[in-house]
Amino acid sequence: MEMILPNDQSETLSLRFLGTGNAPGVPVHGCRCDICVKATFNTELRREPCSALLEINEYKILLDAGLPDLKQRFPDGTLHSILLTHYHPDHVQGLFPLRWGLGQVLPVYGPDDQEGCGDLFKNHGILDFIKLAPFQSFELAGLIVTPVPLLHSKRTLGYCFEHDSGKLAYLTDTVGLPQKTQSFLKQWKPDLMVLDCSFPPMDKAPKNHNDLNLALEAYTAIKPKKLLLTHIGHELDVWLNEHEGDLPDAVGIARDKDRYGMLPIKKPAEPYLIYQKANLSEAGL
Ligand SMILES: [Zn+2]
Ligand SMILES: [Zn+2]
Ligand SMILES: [Zn+2]
Repeated sequence: MEMILPNDQSETLSLRFLGTGNAPGVPVHGCRCDICVKATFNTELRREPCSALLEINEYKILLDAGLPDLKQRFPDGTLHSILLTHYHPDHVQGLFPLRWGLGQVLPVYGPDDQEGCGDLFKNHGILDFIKLAPFQSFELAGLIVTPVPLLHSKRTLGYCFEHDSGKLAYLTDTVGLPQKTQSFLKQWKPDLMVLDCSFPPMDKAPKNHNDLNLALEAYTAIKPKKLLLTHIGHELDVWLNEHEGDLPDAVGIARDKDRYGMLPIKKPAEPYLIYQKANLSEAGL
């Protein structure tokens, strides 16, 4: 269905999923479900804390910092800024060892949350926390970034990135979307939208995270060219295993280490975008 990303110079913006799991991850400790048992042996089925790396040429932006081994993945000087959606541990726990680094100061953008997580604000080390306000756009490495409020148990921001090659919305953690955010996205028209979907379809609306019903409602309302689901829990993986092919064509499931590039297509007709995926297991990130 998806093509391999060619190794040429036309790539301008790419998104790598470093983790696509919910807080327990996959496998869930002690779980005997089909997916968790398989994921114990098959590393491709595992889901690490939800996070991604946005690359604009050489500039690297980390979206959420829940991976525990950030200092090994990103030696000094290889990461340029961090954007946090919110201060739940599965999105910030990697900052605790990283802050005591001796390298460059790292700007960490995030919502205006008085508490933060643990003593991160008090003992920030090399991290420079910068508070963002909803809908106050700013420029970062040639991108226009607009933070949008989400619906979660802690103050949470999604991020809309605008670049010459297209528009990307990264929206987790959330249950549904606030009306203002949904209206903004409808009018903004993302090319690629990445959305929290922790659970399979549920009879009763879930708290704090989307189930598949809510995620598809947002997709129908906003109509991005492509929707990728992330922050996935093991119950959703079990459901997907039994309902392969049930999702609309433009809806995909993110996997750890997948990379999506936004490439302008050189055609005489009006330029448009495609999303190409490459599994970069060998890339070491
Ligand atoms: Zn989370
Ligand atoms: Zn399980
Ligand atoms: Zn959360």
